Amino acid sequence: MNAAPPKITPMLQQYLEIKEQYPDTILFYRMGDFYEMFFDDALTAAKILGITLTSRSAKDEANKIPMCGVPFHAVTGYLGRMIKAGYRVALCEQVEDPKQAKGIVRREVVRVVSPGVTTDDQLLDAKSDCYVCAASFSRKSAKEMLAGLAVVDVSTGRFQVSEVIFAPSDPAPLIDEFTRLRPAELILPQSELEEWTGLTDLLAAHLGQLCLTGRPDMHFDSRAALSALTEHFHTTSLAGFGCAAYTAAVNAAGALLLYLKETQKSELSHIKQLSPLNQGGFLIIDDASRRNLELTETLVGGQREGSLLFAIDRTATPMGARLLRRWLLFPLQEREQIEARLASVQELLQRPDARAAIRDLLDSIYDLERLCSRLVLGHGNARDMGAIKTSLAQLPAIHVWLAECTSPLLRAMAAEFDSLTDLHQLIDAAIRDDAPISLREGLLIKEGYHDELDRLLVLLRDGKQLILALETSERERSGLAKLKVGYNKVFGYYFEVSRSQAEALPDYFIRKQTLVNAERFITPELKELENSIATAQERRLELEYELFLQVRSQLVEHNQRLLAVADLLARIDVLACFAELAYRHRYCRPEINANRSLSIAEGRHPVIERSLEPGRFVPNDVHLDQERDEILIITGPNMAGKSTVLRQTALIVLMAHLGSFVPAESADICLIDRIFTRVGAMDDLRRGQSTFMVEMNETANILNNATENSLVILDEIGRGTSTYDGLAIAWAVVEELAQKDGIGIKTLFATHYHELTDLAATNARVQNYSIAVKEWNNTIIFLHKLIKGATNRSYGIQVASLAGVPEHVITRAYEILKNIEIGEFNLQGQPTIAAGKKSKKNAPRQLSLFTPPTHPALALLAAINPDELSPKQALELIYQALACLKASDP
Ligand code: ATP
Repeated sequence: MNAAPPKITPMLQQYLEIKEQYPDTILFYRMGDFYEMFFDDALTAAKILGITLTSRSAKDEANKIPMCGVPFHAVTGYLGRMIKAGYRVALCEQVEDPKQAKGIVRREVVRVVSPGVTTDDQLLDAKSDCYVCAASFSRKSAKEMLAGLAVVDVSTGRFQVSEVIFAPSDPAPLIDEFTRLRPAELILPQSELEEWTGLTDLLAAHLGQLCLTGRPDMHFDSRAALSALTEHFHTTSLAGFGCAAYTAAVNAAGALLLYLKETQKSELSHIKQLSPLNQGGFLIIDDASRRNLELTETLVGGQREGSLLFAIDRTATPMGARLLRRWLLFPLQEREQIEARLASVQELLQRPDARAAIRDLLDSIYDLERLCSRLVLGHGNARDMGAIKTSLAQLPAIHVWLAECTSPLLRAMAAEFDSLTDLHQLIDAAIRDDAPISLREGLLIKEGYHDELDRLLVLLRDGKQLILALETSERERSGLAKLKVGYNKVFGYYFEVSRSQAEALPDYFIRKQTLVNAERFITPELKELENSIATAQERRLELEYELFLQVRSQLVEHNQRLLAVADLLARIDVLACFAELAYRHRYCRPEINANRSLSIAEGRHPVIERSLEPGRFVPNDVHLDQERDEILIITGPNMAGKSTVLRQTALIVLMAHLGSFVPAESADICLIDRIFTRVGAMDDLRRGQSTFMVEMNETANILNNATENSLVILDEIGRGTSTYDGLAIAWAVVEELAQKDGIGIKTLFATHYHELTDLAATNARVQNYSIAVKEWNNTIIFLHKLIKGATNRSYGIQVASLAGVPEHVITRAYEILKNIEIGEFNLQGQPTIAAGKKSKKNAPRQLSLFTPPTHPALALLAAINPDELSPKQALELIYQALACLKASDP
């Protein structure tokens, strides 16, 4: 921050004191109807928000302070932009009424909004969880590090821990975990943040814009962490949560909780438990495979549209959409659990009316999880309650619907279902349907809910009538028919009678004024009524606010019940979504087997199929087992559909593990523990790795970690290096996959190295397949059909022609290809590709990489008889051979 100006006003003094407590945030300082920023904060915010930078004390050059501001009613949008840019914002409010303030108005930071910690709908993606994560590191052994991770979704209160062991030289497991969680914000011990820049660079490369926040190392200390957690949960240990063994992660969890309490200024009572983020029991898909298979976003551009998630998301609620995403990232591995989901999907598929009914009901359900957290964090307003009420109104009907279901999973839900009618009644009785967002303007609470409020409302509405009623009753009591009520600014309300009648008034009439013809009086009752009317509005606003807070805290007390219902609705939503998908796109129920074989009949790619005209996608059969069809080598021209067959197989297997029906006529799927992919050859310069290095990292990962229960998808390997090296590596990798651990691993391998098809001749578990094409009029037609047997044609030039490469370049390419294929070399040992129009003495054939033509240097040596050479001739010959060698070695 700039040096403080020499002359400092009390207001600036206050600003600087608050800013000192929140040094790594942008401080939004409330002044009347604006949030103002000063000094460096103003410079940063003006640039990001595109607002005008002005200055305070502009007349006095020496005291000029950069400043900018945003109107308070539009603050959410501005907050969103700051957060998107990776900043944290401290919202500093006026916490006393300026009219009552003596001196400068008291101000306090009421909460810190950061990328990982926000509950504002406008700042959150409804379809993704918003996590803030903390990590603490320790050395496990000479070669291994232990990372303890704690992760919380503040909006739902889900708080989980996990631990990852990794080698400092290979942090891939750590990156896998981070990319699966995709936190928006990461809390690290300050020292790690400053010293371990390698980690932060790596995280930035994999997670894009990630808000990194350093916290004092002592917050990660085991004792401090444990006491923060046990104090919060009111327990003596964490054993009851099953987390006691996660020591490193518990340290991170403690630091995270401290951070949240400090920034949210809230008790966070909705965070009720800590649970292990179970890594076992799920089908594991590493980061590279998640990206390669485009599960949640596309490989190019990182868009949701085009991903599997986008294609299968037919959920009706935001909770359902987020749960679907979680299910996709944590597919099941327990057969019973998968079957239970499948049975529910089948039931909903077979009962179209029930499916339509539940989707209708779910359509009226708001984001209960996030609404609850807004209540818990003290941000919830009456509109939020209205949304909760509307949602709860659907629950009795959903309960009836569930009770009619027969599949075990849905029946179990019916049994645990809580219709929350008490909470619905509470909101319905208390909160007005037309309540405003603001909590201080009244109009929040319904009439009939609270006696005192009702009285105040009557006073406000009927104040005049009440005065007139008093006038009537006093007339009757005194017998003075001409007694009347008047009003002036000096006394307020008064009774007036003529002077002659004044003496007849009872004693409790107090004389206030004598006029020429009349006398004016007040009574205690009149004054009390007047006072009530005058203060009714103020008291009403206060009382409504208080009553609102009471209702809110009553709901907060039942937060767990609300969240349990939200979770249940999300599950129903995803199951109904699977049924709808199955219906709309003719998906079939997969059989789940335990015999290590995998058969898909007429399988389709769930995303590509949707991008084509109906019926245009060509389905394909794939069978893999661990005896004869363990490794399928798939050859075929570019664009034939090799990658598509590979990916659709992986996606169908994955979808089956979610409990979803799959795009096929039938599918018999074995339980898979991990899906590995090595797909495409994209440079990953962002992560500082070359194409080949990425390929080899992914290949190494597969060979080191795949088990006999894994599925491996290899879409070409070795293309990023020289042909011979690449082929040699590919060959050795297939051999290893076929024999690993004596059983081998189910693998689909697409390749342009036709030599690899020879592997089938020597290895009984390797089979050749290809994708059929038809040649027609010098061009090719893609049939996209997977057929048994290899192909030895690449059709690369035909594909280039189809792609629009100019005609003369294509003609020239054919010439060069022929020269290479007939194996003509010049004296320097290079193919005579420069010469055009060569004779067509040999028919074109696929160039064999295993029988390279004789090298000219060898040809030279083969032609001589050493016994006939003079020493000089021998020396000349050596020079010639050397020249040949140099010429052929670029
Ligand atoms: P390359 O060797 O160049 O990587 P490829 O053989 O892997 O090519 P794919 O990328 O799988 O080819 O497919 C190319 C395009 O062909 C797809 O984008 C899709 O439009 C179409 N395609 C692939 N398979 C099918 C299919 N079964 N039915 C209809 N169209 C298909």
